[in-house]
Amino acid sequence: MKYVSLMLAASMVFAAIAGCVGQFGESSGDFSDSPAVVPVISPEKQEHTYGEMVEMINGLNAEYPDLVEVFSIGKSVESRDIWCIRITNEKITGGKLECLIDGCMHGTETAGEETCIVLMNYLLSNYKTNATIRELVDSNIINIIPVANPDGREAGTRENANGIDINRNYDIDWGNPIGMSVPDPLGTGHPLENCGPSAFSEPESCAMRDFMDVCDSNGNFAFYFNMHTNAFCFISPWDAANPPFDVPEKDRELFHTVFKWVMENTIYSATGSGMYPSDWSEFSVGAYYSSGEAKDWCYMRHRVPSFLLELYNASMTPSDMNYWVRASLPTIIYLLEVSPELYAWENPSTEIKVDLGVDGGSIL
Ligand SMILES: [Zn+2]
Repeated sequence: MKYVSLMLAASMVFAAIAGCVGQFGESSGDFSDSPAVVPVISPEKQEHTYGEMVEMINGLNAEYPDLVEVFSIGKSVESRDIWCIRITNEKITGGKLECLIDGCMHGTETAGEETCIVLMNYLLSNYKTNATIRELVDSNIINIIPVANPDGREAGTRENANGIDINRNYDIDWGNPIGMSVPDPLGTGHPLENCGPSAFSEPESCAMRDFMDVCDSNGNFAFYFNMHTNAFCFISPWDAANPPFDVPEKDRELFHTVFKWVMENTIYSATGSGMYPSDWSEFSVGAYYSSGEAKDWCYMRHRVPSFLLELYNASMTPSDMNYWVRASLPTIIYLLEVSPELYAWENPSTEIKVDLGVDGGSIL
């Protein structure tokens, strides 16, 4: 059994402090292997505004210049930047896998943003002191987009500033069957899942599409992880009602293996609402058709394992955001850990255990 030792026995902490040679410049003598510490979202805050998130990633860029790059992948309808924070040891080049993680593609679903915020702080603040995290950051290029829909996040709307549901706007079974075009052909006047006048009509979906191309530009794209709320489930392709091809058996096996790990190691078990299958032996097809999704597009276009996590249930019980972030982070750490297998479409180990470490890190 492999154990991802984010938390080690206390007796090992001091014994493990050893000079780590090499590639981290002047700091190279400072490495150690101690239990990781999980940052905490302030109970009073619970969520960060778009502006606070931007300030934070720029602060992390200043604090960890050799581990962080911050850049915009494009602009929203209202010209807000869609920021990406890229975390990797920049002193190590070549042979690394690209991973893409995002949140808040629906502007009201802030738990995805908060999970990104804790994830980035967790990876960076524990880099020097935890060997497992150091290995993940050394071997992966971890692209995190906390707010994929900045206008919706600012306005408190699911859709972008054009009233379009970005996660129905990708060119994958676009508009069928859920996803009303503009103007509303069903006459419902309810643009809940308004897919836009055409596929990729929106700058936000175009920016993400183009950035997925960047992630794949060296042929090292390993996985895509897209976070939402609040259906409390974990989904792989397809959600599209009429997908362009059947999921091949090899891909299906990998998805099932990852599902199995998630069921056995997280709270995301077969307890979804009636909309969802009572077990995850089947994919979401037949349970929740949804056209034009980023996850389906990424899988179709790039043929990388692509996942969608619905972070919490409709009542968000318990109501503490930290609970849901911590419940969701192990899945991301697991995917980072098995990124070489995901990249190669080989079934990853389900024996890996992820313990995030001890609570009590910095208050975010
Ligand atoms: Zn959503």
